[in-house]
Amino acid sequence: MNEPRPPTAEEQLAFLRSLQRLLDEGSFVSSYKFALLHAIADLCLVRGDDSGAELELSTAEIAGQFVRLYWPQVAPFVAGSDSGILSQNTGRQAAVVRELAERHNRYQGSLADLERSPSDWGALRRKVEQTVRKMPLWKLQTVGSERLEFLYRNLDAGGVVRLEPGVAYCLRAFYPMVTDMIEGAWSHFVQRRNPRLLGQVVDLRSFLFGSQRSSLAVYRPLLREVQRGRCFYCERDIRSRADVDHFIPWRLYSLDLGHNFVLAHQGCNSSKSDLLAAEEHLERWTVRNRTRRDELRDGFDGLKVLHDWPATREIARWAYGQAHHARRQVWVQAKELRPLSDGWRRILSAA
Ligand SMILES: [Zn+2]
Repeated sequence: MNEPRPPTAEEQLAFLRSLQRLLDEGSFVSSYKFALLHAIADLCLVRGDDSGAELELSTAEIAGQFVRLYWPQVAPFVAGSDSGILSQNTGRQAAVVRELAERHNRYQGSLADLERSPSDWGALRRKVEQTVRKMPLWKLQTVGSERLEFLYRNLDAGGVVRLEPGVAYCLRAFYPMVTDMIEGAWSHFVQRRNPRLLGQVVDLRSFLFGSQRSSLAVYRPLLREVQRGRCFYCERDIRSRADVDHFIPWRLYSLDLGHNFVLAHQGCNSSKSDLLAAEEHLERWTVRNRTRRDELRDGFDGLKVLHDWPATREIARWAYGQAHHARRQVWVQAKELRPLSDGWRRILSAA
């Protein structure tokens, strides 16, 4: 095999065009194809790199990501009504949604609890995996009578997907744009499938993909303890109300895993906004997550929230790598920004 190399500018454009064609021309009888595309893009952040190399993903991994994507969507759209689950299929409700809705009920909406119960989680993941292998995986790249095989080779069967060279590179480089396209198309599909339930509802997309911002308050006491009552960014005492902030900005990747949260002054949080934090903050963040590992793990478990430090670290590596590549600026304090230096690499490899 040839040495991997990043795709050329022309190859990157061709990739985006193909993706657009897939979303525009593909036939969608259920939302599985959207979920599959989204899951593959998500996994590229955690498992891929920027060398341009091909990437092998298992259908078990894809199924796990499927569950995480659909989980918030199987809550009744109208609070308190059992029949209010949005349809995600042109015929009978999609099998994955039916499976998940039952668990969602049993675990009272807590995916963290479900994932911590190995037998239930394993059984669900296997079921979803069967559906992934039967339904969208080997049909995704069929567009009308044409095969548009730009993501992976269509084997028509099997439990492993090998992404073509350059695919992981492109999905990492254009992740915010790609997921925006997928979520837009997915929301549009669900909107059309559910005229009675939705009527003229405008904010469907934030129901399907929005962060549950109200629930972030649960982190406050734990973070206050770990940060000894100080603001994560300026390290001065917090005297009034503080915000729970996504260290890797939510706009970049909706990373709701425990280690991504820090407590900050409202002023510090709002001036940081959707920017990546500068190297000194990144260093403080990785040191905190490494040295307070046990305390954080027990705290997150106690709060019943999901956490996965290695995955969180990989997503940070992706975010900083992309920012570096695009010569973006990072946030220092107040209105001060500066170009990201090479230092992030050393900081994250020590993490
Ligand atoms: Zn502050």
